[in-house]
Amino acid sequence: MKLRFDESVEAFRSEFLEWLAVNRPPAEEIDADPPRSSAYVPRWAAAFTRRMFDDGWLVPGWPPERGGRNAGAIETLVYLEELNRAGVPRTTNPQGLGIIAPSLFDYGTDEQIEKYAMPLLRGETSACLGMSEPDAGSDLANLKTRAVRDGDNFIINGQKVWTSGANYADFCFLFCRTDPDVPKHQGISIILLPMDTPGVTVRPLTEIVAPDFPDLNEVFLDDVILPVENLVGDLNNGWRMANGSLAHERSMVWLMGVMGMESAMTELLAAAPGLLADLGPQERALAVDEIAGLHIDTVAARCLGYRGFARFVRTGSAPEQSLMKLYSTEARQQLARFAAELLGPDSLRTGTGRHGEAGSLEAYFTTFGTTISAGSSEIQRNIIAERVLGLPRG
Ligand SMILES: Cc1cc2nc3c(=O)[nH]c(=O)nc-3n(C[C@H](O)[C@H](O)[C@H](O)COP(=O)(O)OP(=O)(O)OC[C@H]3O[C@@H](n4cnc5c(N)ncnc54)[C@H](O)[C@@H]3O)c2cc1C
Repeated sequence: MKLRFDESVEAFRSEFLEWLAVNRPPAEEIDADPPRSSAYVPRWAAAFTRRMFDDGWLVPGWPPERGGRNAGAIETLVYLEELNRAGVPRTTNPQGLGIIAPSLFDYGTDEQIEKYAMPLLRGETSACLGMSEPDAGSDLANLKTRAVRDGDNFIINGQKVWTSGANYADFCFLFCRTDPDVPKHQGISIILLPMDTPGVTVRPLTEIVAPDFPDLNEVFLDDVILPVENLVGDLNNGWRMANGSLAHERSMVWLMGVMGMESAMTELLAAAPGLLADLGPQERALAVDEIAGLHIDTVAARCLGYRGFARFVRTGSAPEQSLMKLYSTEARQQLARFAAELLGPDSLRTGTGRHGEAGSLEAYFTTFGTTISAGSSEIQRNIIAERVLGLPRG
């Protein structure tokens, strides 16, 4: 058994750390203008994205012309760990970098890649993902936003909801129904929607987390006219592409889940001595017990994550993905609730924007979204029951 990385991987880590030491955005700049929404790109973030792109550190596994250096999967893991440890966000537009740009590389035309994907990678624009609708969330294939062909255009009518960052985005990766007369999975297409197109109305939703900086939105589409060149891939092939798009997201979500848990645990351990000092002996004993349990959960998540990641690298898929998504998001929620309880009324203090602080109620509330987005906990349990355990469909 070998529980360390190869020397070449450690050399890669050192090279990245040296680059990061010189190029990371100053903490004061991040604190002054935090990444408060999924498509809001602060100035420091745009500049940092550009530097990462130019120097091949944006997505190390991609080729240099796309902001990478053809690095392997293990190197990418090490890179993500170091960015997370440094507390520097890799991107302030995760849907754009993690789902939309790679989907355009997979299915888009050369013109779409040049016009929409490359500016995202250079930090010049941001994008949102228009999938969910009032009656289409977990059952995405139920979507009803209609795109009707009219000569060289599509005319689009409908509504999206929970569209992260639509209030800041330059364009939307929009899922539409283009054929209502075939089984629902077969009549869906993806169309690129510039957000300044006439007929698009974005209405931010007020959230309990950071109500002054809304991230989730409703998007209304009234007779929106888009040229057929904006169709991504083949007509009516959106469902297959959606699975490809979301695979890009899934390959990240579980790693980010573990890393998020570790950061939260590190913050809790740093704050713990101060927090425990005010407790009586009995309460302190219970709290210490809880912290030890949460620490074990965090270590277990890392072991499960490494095992799943090794399998993912070997085979391209791993059942641990669903286990990790479920386990890491729910365990992180438990951790955040415990930290807020320990802090008591102080947990009401305002955090630093969307990312909150250890023990703040804001940090706790933020964890609810992660148990819903990218496949809710119930959906993960269904997947585990059916595809991992081979149980009959419920
Ligand atoms: C923070 C956040 C960001 C998001 N960002 C985006 C975005 O950028 N773009 C976008 O398109 N969408 C986005 N979403 C929407 C997200 O994809 C949906 O919320 C999610 O798919 C669930 O859909 P729903 O909200 O319609 O709930 P529903 O699907 O209606 O589910 C309601 C409840 O029923 C449960 N349920 C549903 N089906 C089953 C089943 N078969 N078995 C057991 N239980 C079931 C669910 O787990 C849930 O508890 C975001 C959501 C959140 C929370």
